Amino acid sequence: MASTTATQLAGLEGAFADGKYVLPKLPYAANALEPFYEERTIKLHHEKHHQAYVDGLNKTLGLLEAARKNNDFAAVRALSGLAAFNGSGHVLHSLFWNSMRPTGGKDLSGEVPSALAGAMEKSFGSVAAAKAHLAAASKDVEGSGWGLLAYEPIARRLVILQSEKHQNQSIWGVVPLLVCDVWEHAYYLQYQNRRAEFVDNFIKIANWEFAAARLERATGGA
Ligand code: MN
Repeated sequence: MASTTATQLAGLEGAFADGKYVLPKLPYAANALEPFYEERTIKLHHEKHHQAYVDGLNKTLGLLEAARKNNDFAAVRALSGLAAFNGSGHVLHSLFWNSMRPTGGKDLSGEVPSALAGAMEKSFGSVAAAKAHLAAASKDVEGSGWGLLAYEPIARRLVILQSEKHQNQSIWGVVPLLVCDVWEHAYYLQYQNRRAEFVDNFIKIANWEFAAARLERATGGA
């Protein structure tokens, strides 16, 4: 982990500052993931789409604060939905940037740290099966959503989830370790309708070191 700071490993510290949610910086130059993920797409995705979730979350929480002050909860259902949508969007995008790493154009999907590889074998049978499952779940999301590798703390095992939008189809309490955004905005400029090709390339640059560090934090190293 020599090249990665503790802040980057956590993946979320840069997402909040001075009492507000903020857009975290990309952990690499915007062109660093090419050719697998092009600069134009990543800049738009980060600066416009992710920023919109940050703004939406701050705005929604402000409106909920006002609702409490005024004891007026007429809009509580809509605002609760917006908090979940924008909040989950902010969390997952913050993790998404760290879920990829510059590889110098190489396919480094085989480099899974041993602790994470062991957890994958225990939970899914093999590292290859885990990757195949994660790729399939990501490719097959109905509409907009995410494929996620996550830690489930009750059984202390890994799970692969398929989330719709940002907030649906999770298990409460899981810790996402590695997330693949398959909203069309994530890939359409570069890949058009070829979501599967985007996902296969995501796996090539997946930051397993980041996922392993998240797992270590979630388990306390146990
Ligand atoms: Mn996105």
